[in-house]
Amino acid sequence: MLSLDQIVEKLKEIAGPRFVSTNPIDKINYQHTLAYGAYKALPDVIVLVESDENGCHPLGRLLRFANEHRVPIVAKGGVGMGISSPLKGGILLDMLGMDKILEVNPTLQYVIAEGGASVYAIHHALRQHGLMLPNYGTYGPSVIIGAMVTKGGIGYGMTRYGWIADMVIGLEVVLPGGETVRLGALANDGTEFGPFQKWVHIPDLLGLFTLSAGSLGIISKVCLRAIEGKREWLHDYCYGFRREQLENVQEALLQLVKGEVVYDIHFTDHWQYFWPMEEGLYDKKQIPEEAWFFLKTILFARDQEELAYKEKRMKAIYEGQGGFEIREIAEKGMGARAQEHGLHGWPDFHIMGPDGWCSSVVRHTGMFAVVSLMYPITFLKLMYDFDEEAKRECGLWDPEHSPQHDSYVTRDLAIKEETFVFYNPYDDEDVARLRQWMGKIQEFSNKKGVVWTAPTLSTKGPYPYERLGNAYDLVKQIKQFIDPNNILNPGALV
Ligand SMILES: Cc1cc2nc3c(=O)[nH]c(=O)nc-3n(C[C@H](O)[C@H](O)[C@H](O)COP(=O)(O)OP(=O)(O)OC[C@H]3O[C@@H](n4cnc5c(N)ncnc54)[C@H](O)[C@@H]3O)c2cc1C
Repeated sequence: MLSLDQIVEKLKEIAGPRFVSTNPIDKINYQHTLAYGAYKALPDVIVLVESDENGCHPLGRLLRFANEHRVPIVAKGGVGMGISSPLKGGILLDMLGMDKILEVNPTLQYVIAEGGASVYAIHHALRQHGLMLPNYGTYGPSVIIGAMVTKGGIGYGMTRYGWIADMVIGLEVVLPGGETVRLGALANDGTEFGPFQKWVHIPDLLGLFTLSAGSLGIISKVCLRAIEGKREWLHDYCYGFRREQLENVQEALLQLVKGEVVYDIHFTDHWQYFWPMEEGLYDKKQIPEEAWFFLKTILFARDQEELAYKEKRMKAIYEGQGGFEIREIAEKGMGARAQEHGLHGWPDFHIMGPDGWCSSVVRHTGMFAVVSLMYPITFLKLMYDFDEEAKRECGLWDPEHSPQHDSYVTRDLAIKEETFVFYNPYDDEDVARLRQWMGKIQEFSNKKGVVWTAPTLSTKGPYPYERLGNAYDLVKQIKQFIDPNNILNPGALV
């Protein structure tokens, strides 16, 4: 077994001495995630991986070395939510040096980028060609594409187009033995036709690296399908419903998703608007007092004719269920104008900054915690009512805890729920209330068959995995086959 000094020496030889650090301050800096103090693990050594202009990079050699000497190795993206925390120490692989956008093909509408490229940079490159990824998150420049595939990234546009992973048509992955494999459309790279479709004439292996939390291979390239798109083609609306109309909300959502009319629907509630209204960011007189649920809805239309058709169908569905239009929120809280009003919208660059979508809430409350889970739209009422009851029981259903919902409606006829609590991290009682609420949600949801967003064994425990029965056994066997020494993000999936 090699000593840490010997490991560091070898890593310097492979990646270059400037790219390897054991500095304690660096380790603490890399520990920072959006989950703040929740993940305390530190790596033994940090390696920044860089690619040169010819696309050469040391990933293969790094992985082979780590595998030979059984050193844990965890890829780290932009900001992190904690799942790139090096639970067993070892090497933390900073992917931000593999950040090149390699090709935008406007004719066949795909983009190829390195695994460490910022999703934001990909959007920017596509825009130069009148294209877009029809899935736009709120993370601005901070997160990377390899991580978004392997952790299940989502964003606006999800109601019509799905997850970022749904847009992936090809991957290049470096396996723990150091070998590079090209999958899907990228398996066709190097031929005269080049990459063009996801399916090649072997079984689909792309899915293996989706939602795998970086524990089966390191993604070095991603090929994504783009669509034609312009900001001007997105049109914003907001519909309100009263608290007792949740079943109508459910029904309207089902009809809107099935009808394939809308580009995106965001389900939010009263608490999201409480502090912005108190601060005068919205004109209270323009928002009916009885409005409790707010469905921020985006239509995608290339011209007036398409817009008129979609608008008519959307209105008929919302109004048929007793919803009422609220222009104040569509005009101030959505789209590019939201930034001008100090409110959140598309695009969103900072979650907590002066223009960030949580800023007015944070000014009055504290730090936020969020639980992210998925269930069928038909269970929205059950899940919302349970969450309200749990928050009430834990003393969290008040403006000071801003217990808001900010959820996506997905094309899978599901809700990707994000339910929040803002709290004071320096107040032990407040932290205890938060933990109690989280425990209640976890227990209730697990029993129902919820699907967690970006879970890991360390964050959600074994139950969500074990309930999948022999499907999880098969995943463990595949992991054993690909990564027999369990060096890749150990403790995340297995
Ligand atoms: C301001 C802000 C807003 C956000 N809004 C959204 C949103 O709208 N939608 C959304 O989906 N998420 C959102 N997030 C959460 C975001 O998805 C997470 O921060 C997430 O973890 C993204 O990846 P990361 O680049 O930070 O990488 P990390 O968290 O460091 O990595 C995530 C996982 O990917 C693995 N990994 C990293 N790179 C690779 C690679 N090249 N190959 C294989 N595995 C790899 C890591 O080991 C880890 O398991 C937001 C985050 C922030 C900071």
